Amino acid sequence: MIPFLDLKNINAQYQIELKEACSRVIDSGWYVLGNEVTEFEKEFATYCKTKHCLGVANGLDALVLILRAYIELGVIQKGDEVIVPSNTYIASILAISENGLTPVLVEPDINTFNLDSKLVEQAITDKTKAILTVHLYGQVTAMDEINTIAKKYNLKVIEDCAQAHGALYTDKQGQSRKVGSLGDAAGFSFYPGKNLGALGDAGAVTTNDSELADTIAALRNYGSHEKYKNLYKGMNSRLDEIQAAMLRVKLRYLDNEIAARQAVAQVYLTGINNPIIELPVVDDVNSHVWHLFVIKTTQREKLANYLTANGVQSLIHYPIPPHKQGAYHEWTNESFPISEQIHDQVLSIPISPVLAINVVNKIVEICNSFNKDTII
Ligand SMILES: *Cc1c(COP(=O)(O)O)cnc(C)c1O
Repeated sequence: MIPFLDLKNINAQYQIELKEACSRVIDSGWYVLGNEVTEFEKEFATYCKTKHCLGVANGLDALVLILRAYIELGVIQKGDEVIVPSNTYIASILAISENGLTPVLVEPDINTFNLDSKLVEQAITDKTKAILTVHLYGQVTAMDEINTIAKKYNLKVIEDCAQAHGALYTDKQGQSRKVGSLGDAAGFSFYPGKNLGALGDAGAVTTNDSELADTIAALRNYGSHEKYKNLYKGMNSRLDEIQAAMLRVKLRYLDNEIAARQAVAQVYLTGINNPIIELPVVDDVNSHVWHLFVIKTTQREKLANYLTANGVQSLIHYPIPPHKQGAYHEWTNESFPISEQIHDQVLSIPISPVLAINVVNKIVEICNSFNKDTII
């Protein structure tokens, strides 16, 4: 079976360095908020070209902490609305409701799977304070449009970068910048399966806003800047030293891994020519880092079974739209047709930096030999 993602092989490439880094932490005798976290924060801020980076426990907390900090700073009040894509992974939405704010679901563009800026503007009310955009599957949102709307209505722009580490956006002036630096603040996840993955849970916030960074630095550590002095009702959401050390190793290879993913995607994009399969739409080659390679088809179940029968594992990201989740029963009667169509038709085929090109070619052949009358 060709696995959907082979984490063991991805990390095996760096095992000597990872083990050395791990030993360094064990020998240091310092395991929380020490030198590894500080150095990783500097290195990741440099990578994203932001003034600040704050290591936190996971990607969900990164987003929760950004919104909590805006509440502490008086920028957002409980009960205010935050716009978020209706087809995102549930964590983006959980971060909003966790803070007593109201998530307002806005439909994505059917082709890019990212927020449709025209629909964003229509959803703005007096209570809207922020747009939480998600660079889903690894492709950057059309940020010029989002930032223009945000400026017009005085909204904060928060990026959910959990799937898009290192993706580049070229703005209308022709300037290229990485995700994490395209809005007011950004949340990253380093969950093991993400493009920059730790060997456990980890996350970070990036921002150029020093006041926000300072507030999050306290909020992640019981609301305290100074030991035993608590300014806020904070939480415990710190990045472990061991995970920071793992991430420092893997960050050095991130750009190589992105290039390897882009090479796999290129083989799929030029090789798959089955009319039953709709390929992902890419605006600009550098703006997609291919966390997932997501195709659309009206024959999803048959295609998935066909792939399995031919030894290829596929997954669905995601099978149930957020408004149909039990957690958000208040939305069960609402209709988000684009999102529903996406959730009915998407299928993710294997992509990773360690997928050999001959294997990729084999997957292309299998995809092209599928036809809807195939009996499995
Ligand atoms: C993975 C993910 C998160 C959550 O990250 P965790 O580290 O698992 O908490 C948030 N948003 C998106 C889009 C994700 O893919």
